[in-house]
Amino acid sequence: MTAPNGTGAPVRPKRALVVGAGISGMATALRLWQIGWEPLVVERSPTRRTGGYFTVFMADGFEPAKRLGIFDDIRDRADPNGRFLEMDRRGRLVPGMNPAAMMMPMAASSYTVLRGDVENALYEALHDKVEIRFGAGPSAVRQGRGHAEVDLSDGTTERFDLVIGADGLHSAVREQVFGPEDLYRRDFNHVIAACLLDRPVKGLREGDNLLVVDTRRSVAVQAFHDHDPVAMFMYCHPWPAAEARKRPSVALREVYSDFGGPVPDLLDAVDRAEHTLFDQISQIHLSSWSRGRVVLLGDSAWSLTLYSGFGSSLGIAGGDLLGTLLVEHGDNIAAALGTWEHRLRPLVTKHQKSAHFAKHFLLPATNSARLIRRAVVRTAASRTGGRIVQALLPASRATRAAGENQIEGLT
Ligand SMILES: Cc1cc2nc3c(=O)[nH]c(=O)nc-3n(C[C@H](O)[C@H](O)[C@H](O)COP(=O)(O)OP(=O)(O)OC[C@H]3O[C@@H](n4cnc5c(N)ncnc54)[C@H](O)[C@@H]3O)c2cc1C
Repeated sequence: MTAPNGTGAPVRPKRALVVGAGISGMATALRLWQIGWEPLVVERSPTRRTGGYFTVFMADGFEPAKRLGIFDDIRDRADPNGRFLEMDRRGRLVPGMNPAAMMMPMAASSYTVLRGDVENALYEALHDKVEIRFGAGPSAVRQGRGHAEVDLSDGTTERFDLVIGADGLHSAVREQVFGPEDLYRRDFNHVIAACLLDRPVKGLREGDNLLVVDTRRSVAVQAFHDHDPVAMFMYCHPWPAAEARKRPSVALREVYSDFGGPVPDLLDAVDRAEHTLFDQISQIHLSSWSRGRVVLLGDSAWSLTLYSGFGSSLGIAGGDLLGTLLVEHGDNIAAALGTWEHRLRPLVTKHQKSAHFAKHFLLPATNSARLIRRAVVRTAASRTGGRIVQALLPASRATRAAGENQIEGLT
């Protein structure tokens, strides 16, 4: 590369360390490569994750995904003919509603995917352009003048113009540079478990989606037209961090043993599953996402939670916008980071707030909340009632307002 001033002197491409090869990390690395940076991705896992739970990939991630060249590799796996069922207290299956459409009105124009679908598309676009070191992470981060120096767990020490912590809810970069997780994590006192279903489930037909909602406990089955379904369990717990350290199959049997209908089959599937996601549900709240030459992005910075439904699309859009602003601000990385946060924060705040509304729909904390939810679902099931409910829901208003911001800030 030669100097832009025409002197012919070589210009060193800017180097970035991206910590985490999840959706946010790989999207950011790809965008940095597109703008002429030299990213290095480090990923703690020894190998690449595949599969994963289902996510709704929101339409506001579509344009950024097109710019990254991955959009055509992401397919909507929703089954257009799939039924939405709920279970009553006697274990009978009754007609229900699409929870995504109910909680997030913009979901209608979005894709239902496995997290691994988006990660695969990003990995395929990235792996022959950018070095991805598996089994490695940061052990120490030191800020210098205009750079950050990082000791990596593979024994190397390297210098970067920018370090991007895209290492998820329990971020090591955040811990090392901003301080202990407890300062920033706000727990919902909810636990989530998710795994793939390898066999048909009693009472469910192929393509059936299920939502079982009890007070402080829920179970969901998400069907796809071309893939095994995913089961998700969500429940309230006063000590979610301690709960999430248990073996999922043991913990879930303690909580769901009195459930009938298809639930015992789902618990058996957890026993057989090779991998079960089992974690607490928390948001991250930081007053600033960057410090010197270190910036957090994605779940490590904001963790919107599954209740918002915007985590993956905002991880992609956030990485895309960061690249755009680094180009706009040239050598002034601090200004780029400041503008980036200024543009993104209103959207993140809105989605964090709407998650607090949506959680009542999936996991009512009290019996009265469960009864109100049931009445809303019944009303919403009719065409006119559906329109009224959509108009009244705070989540709809927050999401519509967020959509307006999004058009201004991200597309
Ligand atoms: C059950 C569930 C359902 C969800 N549903 C939706 C949905 O419907 N719609 C939606 O948009 N979002 C959803 N989300 C959220 C969404 O999946 C995330 O927001 C999105 O995947 C972006 O995550 P991320 O890349 O920021 O972090 P992560 O996916 O957590 O990736 C972080 C990566 O960093 C790696 N890592 C961690 N520590 C280190 C370290 N020390 N060194 C190196 N690497 C490290 C991890 O191994 C991982 O690969 C859901 C989340 C869950 C849990």
